[in-house]
Order: sequence, then C-alpha cells, then structure tokens
Amino acid sequence: MEEFNPNRYAVITEKNPREIVMLRGTGCCWHRCRFCDYHLDSSKDEAENFTLNREQLLKVTGIYQKLEVINSGSFVDLDAPTVELIIKICTEHQINQVHFECHWLHRNAIQAFRKRFFNYGIELKIKTGVETFDTLFRESYLDKGIDADNPQEIAEYFDEVCLLQGIPGQTVEGMDQDIQTGLAYFERVCVNIMQENRKPIKPDPKVIAAFAKEIYPKYIDNCRVDILMENTAFGVGGVVEHAE
Ligand code: SF4
Repeated sequence: MEEFNPNRYAVITEKNPREIVMLRGTGCCWHRCRFCDYHLDSSKDEAENFTLNREQLLKVTGIYQKLEVINSGSFVDLDAPTVELIIKICTEHQINQVHFECHWLHRNAIQAFRKRFFNYGIELKIKTGVETFDTLFRESYLDKGIDADNPQEIAEYFDEVCLLQGIPGQTVEGMDQDIQTGLAYFERVCVNIMQENRKPIKPDPKVIAAFAKEIYPKYIDNCRVDILMENTAFGVGGVVEHAE
C-alpha cells in the first residue's frame, strides 16, 4: 500500500514571490517520461479531486497577487469546477497573474485558456517541462514527447521552461547552454535537480556535484532562474511513502 500526503500549499517569498498550490487532476496524458513518477499524483475521480483542490485553494490569500498552480500534468487535466474556483479565488483576492503547467501535447489548448482568464483581468504564464534543448537526448533518452526541434517553436506557445539537470550524460557545458537558451527564449527558467524515484533514470551524483560547483553559483542570484536542488524546495510536494 502506498500513501502520498504531500504539502499542497506554500508561499514562495524569494524571486517572483507567489503562492503555490499543488492540485490533483486526472493525470498526465503523456506519462511516458522515463524520469518522472509525479503523474502518479492523480485520480480519475473528479469529485474527489475537486474536494482536495478546494481545500487547498481556500488557503490562498492573494498576498502577492500571483499564484502558481501545479498538478503533476497539465492544466487540461484539472476538473471544470476546480478551474472555476481558481478564477473565483483570483477575482476575490485581486490575483492578476497565474502560472500553470502544460505539456507540449496540449499546446493548442493554451490560447483559449489564456483568453478565458484574460476576460477576468488575469494574465497567464504557461510553463512547460522541456528538460533539455538537446532534442536527441531529450526524445531518445528521456522520452519527453516534444516533437519540436528548436526553442523558437516552443516559445511560440510557452512563457517559462523547466529543465532537468543532474542526470547521467550531462556536462557542465551542456547544462549551462540549456539555461542560457532558456533565458534567451523564455521569461523564466526553473532548473530541477534530478531526484531518485521509481523510474529508470537515476540521478548522477557526479553531475550534481559539478552542477553545484559550476552552475549553481552562476545563476543562484538571477531573479529569472529558480533552482530546485530538492523537488520540495518550493514548499510543496513530498515522496510516496511505501506502507505495505
Ligand atoms: S514529466 Fe510531466 S509530461 Fe512527463 S510524465 Fe511527468 S507529468 Fe507527464
């Protein structure tokens, strides 16, 4: 038996201060990435998802007028009442910017979603996990499911990118190049350092040590770069506890 009782609400006070909620959707439609088990935080029971999401959304105060919504997948996986409640909460608390996650698969749903929020005076920032701009590595090793070959094409749809670093085969030069490409084409870059989970790709301690020595000091004070050395660094998330 497995239990997953993560913290699902937090306030980020540094760099682009915002509130963050980790909601639950019906699950990532792609779910093939060879490094990810986040998508296991999902349920096909939309009523239960809404109950859980409502409890977290009611904690939002609007302290920074910005909210980030993550849901281990894409915004399209959230149930309709949850999306309606997000809009209501934003309106009530004068939140004028919301960040959502979205996989490349759903890029054509973004424009209408932006417009829907824009009609309430809310600007959306859509974040996608690119993990690396090295297409061959990304698609043949990570199985990310992005059939775009260049950052310009991805930036036509998305405002922010997540990168995955600390995995076997990465070099300091390659990781640095990915961050620089991210900064050149996107508003913000979030670097996630790989942490072990139940999927086949494991963290590489040597690559992580090289990142900590060479890359971290270079970008830690950059207000457009978030660096998550632990996947709970934003104050939400946790690990699946095996309780069998
Ligand atoms: S990394 Fe994102 S797209 Fe890939 S399986 Fe996990 S939730 Fe889905």
